[in-house]
Amino acid sequence: MVRMSGVQKWFGDLHVLQDIDFEVATGEVVVVIGPSGSGKSTLCRAINRLEPINEGTIEIDGVPLPEEGKALAKLRAEVGMVFQSFNLFSHKTVLENVTLGPTKVLGKPKAEAEQRAHELLERVGVANQAGKLPAQLSGGQQQRVAIARALAMDPKVMLFDEPTSALDPEMISEVLETMVDLARRGMTMVVVTHEMGFARTAADRVVFMADGRIVEQNTPDEFFTNPQSDRAQDFLGKIL
Ligand code: ADP
Ligand code: MG
Repeated sequence: MVRMSGVQKWFGDLHVLQDIDFEVATGEVVVVIGPSGSGKSTLCRAINRLEPINEGTIEIDGVPLPEEGKALAKLRAEVGMVFQSFNLFSHKTVLENVTLGPTKVLGKPKAEAEQRAHELLERVGVANQAGKLPAQLSGGQQQRVAIARALAMDPKVMLFDEPTSALDPEMISEVLETMVDLARRGMTMVVVTHEMGFARTAADRVVFMADGRIVEQNTPDEFFTNPQSDRAQDFLGKIL
């Protein structure tokens, strides 16, 4: 579903993505971990071209990422993204947040978009919040709305960049449960997270990044019990 080959990216002198070959199969759940500054967010953002790359190729479902224009907008719509900061439209209701993309970008009739939005809000457990503004919701609820909003576009793959890092501790599990449910439904997912419980429960594969490189990847069981590289051993020693 996602294929990055020979990807290089620089921020000035900083070689932030180095020789990245990264594939995600349909239905696969990949957790990306690594120290702060290792390039995890840049990797995610490159996948839907929020960050342009300097070299290499990126394909989504076999289609090379277009440079710009309508074709890029279409492909971007196939890649859902959920950030650390929920990024909801603050002056729109929860329901409007979820229907905006489908009506404006996909051209869905309003009634159809609203019906689907209610289904998705129900699924993520915030059905009774539809008429509220984001600020009236807890952080965990806002993040679940952000997930529903991304799902409303019927993406082929979902990217999560530290989706629980900005949440109060008691709200983390409700968001992770929503993500585990999504994984069980067969969604293709790339998840940057420090939540090792989620990685063990839901990931098919763990990818470890350091200094802009994919240093090591393995099943969660193998990775956590038997990390191969010094960098991974060192990192796990600090977070576990
Ligand atoms: P991670 O998500 O793993 O913490 P990032 O992908 O955010 O890492 O960042 C990787 C490196 O690139 C860091 O050194 C960061 O400071 C740098 N970086 C990120 N975004 C930019 C930018 N827009 N301009 C310059 N440097 C950046
Ligand atoms: Mg990051």
